[in-house]
Amino acid sequence: MTGQFDTVIVVDWSGGNQGSAKPRADAIWACIARGEIVEEAVYLRHRGAAEDWLIQTLTAETTAGRRVFVGFDFPFGYPAGFGQALLGSDDPFDLWDWFEARIEDTPTANNRFDVAGQINTQFGGRGPFWGNGLKRDIAGLPRTKLGYANPFPDRRKAEEQATGAFTLWQMSGVGSVGGQVMMGLPVLNRLRRHFGAHLAVWPFEPLKASIAVVEVWPSLTAGAAPADWIKDQWQVHAVARDIAALEPARLSEMLNVPTTTEGWIFGLGYEDELRGTGQPLRNDCFALPPGVHWTPVDVALQDLRKRLHPVMRAQPTPVDAALGRVLATDVVAPRANPPLPNTAVDGYGFAGGRGAGAHRLPLVDAQAAAGARLTEIVPPGAAVRILTGAALPDGVDTVVLQEDVDVIDGAIRFMGPLKAGANTRAAGEDVQVGDVVAEKGRRLTPADLAVISAVGVGKVSAFERLRVGVLSTGDELVGAGQDAAPGQIFDANRPMVMGLIERLGHVPIDLGRVEDNRPALRARLDEAAAQADVILTSGGASAGDEDHVSGLLNEAGAMALWRIAIKPGRPLALGVWQGKPVFGLPGNPVAAMVCTLVFAAPALAQMAGAAWTVPHGFDLPAAFEKRKKPGRREFLRARVRAGRVEVFASEGSGRISGLAWAEGLVELPDGAVHVQPGDPVRYIPWSGFMP
Ligand code: AMP
Ligand code: MG
Repeated sequence: MTGQFDTVIVVDWSGGNQGSAKPRADAIWACIARGEIVEEAVYLRHRGAAEDWLIQTLTAETTAGRRVFVGFDFPFGYPAGFGQALLGSDDPFDLWDWFEARIEDTPTANNRFDVAGQINTQFGGRGPFWGNGLKRDIAGLPRTKLGYANPFPDRRKAEEQATGAFTLWQMSGVGSVGGQVMMGLPVLNRLRRHFGAHLAVWPFEPLKASIAVVEVWPSLTAGAAPADWIKDQWQVHAVARDIAALEPARLSEMLNVPTTTEGWIFGLGYEDELRGTGQPLRNDCFALPPGVHWTPVDVALQDLRKRLHPVMRAQPTPVDAALGRVLATDVVAPRANPPLPNTAVDGYGFAGGRGAGAHRLPLVDAQAAAGARLTEIVPPGAAVRILTGAALPDGVDTVVLQEDVDVIDGAIRFMGPLKAGANTRAAGEDVQVGDVVAEKGRRLTPADLAVISAVGVGKVSAFERLRVGVLSTGDELVGAGQDAAPGQIFDANRPMVMGLIERLGHVPIDLGRVEDNRPALRARLDEAAAQADVILTSGGASAGDEDHVSGLLNEAGAMALWRIAIKPGRPLALGVWQGKPVFGLPGNPVAAMVCTLVFAAPALAQMAGAAWTVPHGFDLPAAFEKRKKPGRREFLRARVRAGRVEVFASEGSGRISGLAWAEGLVELPDGAVHVQPGDPVRYIPWSGFMP
């Protein structure tokens, strides 16, 4: 099948000279994904190195009998008519040959600007190419678009559809795709020769060979890079991952595009589906560097942020069903607000301001009200009755308040001065066409729904809600309404964690309770992985004999015990079960709640496609005294009374009543502190952890 690939490689190309030895954005990045496994992206300093790497990698893959999709992020063809005019052929491969014969390329220099200048000279010297990154002038190549004239279409059909794509005539500056194409096609042409019948180029040739070379544009779907990733490194990773996660039949459909000599961008029209198809996590994704014993809270958070990624699909969602959903794309205003200039008050409208003194204006026999646009023109010197929200009729730009007016004998009388434009709202003064009214990653609030609706958008692209499975473990647990033997306790964590998940905007899935027994837990985790996108367990997360959550995850080779320097909260177990991340929360309800708020909340937000969340707290004077040793962060159950922060009398982490007493937490820093009454402390209300 066309869309059946064993290996997906995505390459982020560069038109410039050799990049630094240390990985950075401007050189070449490549990433290999096979099914669910995404390899670490490779940094290639220069095209020569990239070409060698590609030949080696593609040879190894095909020798091993694997079929390969290899994506490059530059156009494979030029806008229609260019090849014909340049060399008398519409065949894109003739253009590839043409460029290969002329481009000279070494790690420190290449002649792309000269070649662009030569082509321009052939067409009158003012285009199609523009932009010169060199100090020396090049005949025929304009430095800027000043005086530029392009005898060809500015964009390919694909770029017309891909909003934000740059044109391939631009040779320098931000988004200079032109250089990448010129410096990329000769390499592709050599690969084509090297692999002969084993390689086919999309969409110019049928993809029957074992290597498919495909044009991709990572910015279409990759989304913003998480912190600590270099943008290009992230883009090749995300795109390779997303393409590798596609069903072969679906990928075949996406590759099936109309015949063209211009080339096409893979995934156009399928952006929502590609974005965040996200493959399951790698088993070792939570592994910590060896030798780390107590991980500071901030390091643990940074790590989580880096290792988790959005996993939900976007779907078109009517605005009235979008409350609390996370936007997958920016919402751009197709219409201004207000759409027309209108009046902010009830009164009388006319043209122009009026100076000091008495004024009299005859009224026309009409009325402008909201919703029905008055089509009559108000003559100069006359006024018209106008009601709040009504669009200003032609001939009106100023409104006088009805309270300031006497109506006598079919005319209004009032005292000036009144400025031109008084009491009116300009079209677009709130939102202009093209403004982003809600950014992707935002969890929609009622106010967002108002502004989105006001600009006439009825449907948004929102991520499906994250399904979070919640499981309690422990032989000692019984459920509500059951008989409890003397040694048993009621399951307090599950209702609490389920409630938190709901407040955090996700869908809680009740996975029930399971005893401390490995086969039972294994079976339950299997069910959980099938139903949920992420699993939260409580209890059994330490390294003891009865700690079967960590035991099982360990057995599966997919677990890391994070000894985080936090109180309350014993080790947090982080693992992967069948591709789904598992947060093994401490059994202790107080610790379970703190760990859910501090670690799970931001991680789940990110998985749901929202921005990573940082708790909103503020400093208030303490109503208590407390000495704390250095080495770990502490959270105390707290509430505010009379402007001061009180903490719960007992710090015992078994004291569930203290959780209900509290209205938030006090966060004490990692270092030693001695808080005296009146000292400022950081208080985070429960709502500060919520989106
Ligand atoms: P564990 O992490 O399994 O060693 O549990 C630590 C403490 O939390 C023990 O005292 C458990 O009985 C208690 N615990 C574990 N799970 C729950 C739960 N779901 N509800 C209330 N207490 C629990
Ligand atoms: Mg237990």
